[in-house]
Amino acid sequence: PPIKVKDFAEEVGMQANTLLKDLMGLGIMGNINYSLDEETLELLIDELDLPAKIAAPEEEEDFTCDGSKVKVDFEEDPADYRLRSPIVTVMGHVDHGKTTLLDMIRKTRVTESEAGGITQHIGAYQAISGDQKITFIDTPGHEAFTAMRARGAQLTDIAILVVAADDGIMPQTVEAINHAKAADIPLIVAVNKIDKPNAQPDRVKQELTEHGLVPEEWGGKTICVEISALKGENIDELMEMVLLVAEMEDIKANPNRPAEGVIIEAELDKGRGAVATVLVKNGSLKVGDPILAGSVCGRVKALVDEHGNRIDVAGPAMPVEVLGFNDVPKAGDFVQVLEDEKRAREISEERQEKEHQARIQTESKVTLEDFYDQIQEGELQELNLIIKADVQGSIEALRESLLRLSTDEVGVNVIHTGVGAINETDVNLASASNAIIIGFNVRPGVKAQKFAEKENVDIRMYRVIYKALEDIKNAMSGLLDPEI
Ligand code: GDP
Repeated sequence: PPIKVKDFAEEVGMQANTLLKDLMGLGIMGNINYSLDEETLELLIDELDLPAKIAAPEEEEDFTCDGSKVKVDFEEDPADYRLRSPIVTVMGHVDHGKTTLLDMIRKTRVTESEAGGITQHIGAYQAISGDQKITFIDTPGHEAFTAMRARGAQLTDIAILVVAADDGIMPQTVEAINHAKAADIPLIVAVNKIDKPNAQPDRVKQELTEHGLVPEEWGGKTICVEISALKGENIDELMEMVLLVAEMEDIKANPNRPAEGVIIEAELDKGRGAVATVLVKNGSLKVGDPILAGSVCGRVKALVDEHGNRIDVAGPAMPVEVLGFNDVPKAGDFVQVLEDEKRAREISEERQEKEHQARIQTESKVTLEDFYDQIQEGELQELNLIIKADVQGSIEALRESLLRLSTDEVGVNVIHTGVGAINETDVNLASASNAIIIGFNVRPGVKAQKFAEKENVDIRMYRVIYKALEDIKNAMSGLLDPEI
């Protein structure tokens, strides 16, 4: 979308007049309200040598509500980008050795820190190969991977596909291949269990070609390493291949910018409150940073590494436990550091409200119109009613007659009655127990009305008893006219 000269000037911290002169230099006569289109913007950015982030004006404010990235105001120098450790997910068919492989690497390639902390399972760990590190996601399988992708978090840089040499390609192997393809991430095949006498690695390779993965040694592009996860054979080769692919992929991050990452695990700890493992993809996460993860916000109170040590900073590709969230974020949520806590809180509240609305819409609240359908679909067996009326006598009369409408198939339940206007408590109860509110000679107050709309609670108002009975009867037999 186009941006006005004055807004653009403010964004880049320039005087609007100076900018207008620069525009003139480009042959454009404008004023402060002149709209800069994308082409002009690009020219300007080029001309003034501004950081390229401004070239993405589509990352505007309506971002804030969809759970994905929020635009954060900061400058970064492209020269600060350097190679970071690759983040690897292990996928493959059940029992082919994913867990064994992850355990073996953890046991033999993760050095305990000098501080002597005990290695904890925090959802990911960093293993060492030569003088380089590889980050492994600790939950094998593509379910977690897919769940994260569904939430928009592309966490994995490289996938290791484990295929047991004594079993060959199985349904979940194919699924894993397809997931890696869909995510457009490189895949390295670990042909596992080669220690077994009935291992047939060549058969596995043959089968791979049938799925478009032609092994390198057969002139294709797919790297295959024959390993024994159990015996620890060829694990070094496998890790070297991961680093080789990482180098080709040119995976980079800038440690000198606010952190961005993904929640890989989160729970409510009795002693520590909400604890979440964040895998930093870019930037550095520091104690004291204001953070936002989906609809949860907070300020980093403490960072704990995989050895249980408290640290001050977590850099790119580093998994770290974060304390300080005001609630438990969801695994797969995108995490980012914002300018200040106030903004983080505002956005999280906005998102919570949106989530709430979405929940109400998906929860099927009963209305008289769809009551019959819900019975037919087996979702409901009885109609819950709340009766409010101007006098107690009307309540009794209504209740008696309504209860008599019960049939063998459909029961009528009056869960609450009361004299007076329909209030928020009634709506609350109706919402919680999936009931319809009947008002006899009474109406809802303004607040109750608004609340009912928000909670999708059906309120029906009547002045004559027989009309109320007729409506309920028709609703129960699917004959209610879709009016009101
Ligand atoms: P996952 O379901 O893919 O995580 O598979 P597991 O790691 O749980 O392994 C399934 C079984 O295969 C276990 O009994 C492992 O001990 C065994 N296994 C895994 N890797 C090897 C291997 O390299 N050689 C042999 N002989 N057995 C293995």
